[in-house]
Amino acid sequence: MPNKEKMTPKSRVLSAIYGGRVDRAPVGGVTASVTHALMDEVGVSFPEAHTDPEKMAKLAAASYEILGFDTIKVPFSVWNLTGALNMPMDWGTRNKWPDGKKIIYTDPSEITVPSDLLERESTSAVIEAIKILRRKYPDVCIVGTVMSTVTQSYNLFGTENIMRMIATAPDKMKEICRILKEPVVEYAQAQVRAGIDVLDFADHATGGLISAETYRDIVMPVHKEILSRVECPLVLHICGKTDDRLDYIIEAGFPCFNIDTAVNNYQAKYLAKDRISLWGGISNINALLMGTPEIVREETYHALDAGFEVVGVECTVPLQVKTENLIAIVEASKSYDYSRRDGQMLADFGRGLARAAARSGNDNLLAEFAKTLVKTA
Ligand SMILES: [Zn+2]
Repeated sequence: MPNKEKMTPKSRVLSAIYGGRVDRAPVGGVTASVTHALMDEVGVSFPEAHTDPEKMAKLAAASYEILGFDTIKVPFSVWNLTGALNMPMDWGTRNKWPDGKKIIYTDPSEITVPSDLLERESTSAVIEAIKILRRKYPDVCIVGTVMSTVTQSYNLFGTENIMRMIATAPDKMKEICRILKEPVVEYAQAQVRAGIDVLDFADHATGGLISAETYRDIVMPVHKEILSRVECPLVLHICGKTDDRLDYIIEAGFPCFNIDTAVNNYQAKYLAKDRISLWGGISNINALLMGTPEIVREETYHALDAGFEVVGVECTVPLQVKTENLIAIVEASKSYDYSRRDGQMLADFGRGLARAAARSGNDNLLAEFAKTLVKTA
């Protein structure tokens, strides 16, 4: 086993995203990990932090400075790109997340993409914040954010209208994705140029809103193309249940998936095998919001036992979460005893088998190996 704490946060996360060696499991947030307690501690609050680059950078850095995460992620809201796509915005308050003021489109032919997309207040703030953070934290993993075409379509057209459109006029949804893909790529590339190491590529293509078949037929081709055009590791984030579309997510080509605990950690790793790295494993409500540091530690161990490559939050952290519960993830990653836990030995064993199964295309490898064990016993 390599010595602990020999890697920089950045190299630790990048190695884990591609399934490589690490000194310990990295801890981070692909989604926003800010809370009222962190706002008070650094003296920066919502809503200013959504559109002011200095304040955004200062609040984002709290995840590294105070929590000890390996990541610093900007921005916090899912509306920064939508705001630049002509949406009149309510940036909310300290207690209230931002929201668009109204639905602005009913048909794809109405969409206009401004030529100054990257100079708008809500996009330029993110790009400037990334530059500030890159200069100050060369060794920390800076995570940028793009909400992709499905989320943009909900924001601009209304979620129910989009669901109806997918059911009755899927070609219109394809057209919306075709048009919105361009600002998504432009904004992502600008964040890469500004210095991010990893992109939180989030899309609300979740079970309950989008079927697995719709993901395969309408969304996956868009994700594939964006992956080929953005030169940085994209970590996909989709909320809720996603086990029925995990094969398509892997087929799209993402190196890493920030998965919701709606899919059990062990089930997630079993389904993913060694074809994609998994990030997350800690439940927002049971562990972070309602739990104690001890409960968070046990959930972290559980995610590591299951073989998650990066431990961290499953989705945007509730603002009321206590700092001690977030720090508990980092402490658990550092204290996790790789040599003495049966679970980890099982995880290593499972990972090895999963890798072999993925390479050979033989899904029955585990069953066959079990038969060999019986024979040799
Ligand atoms: Zn989410």
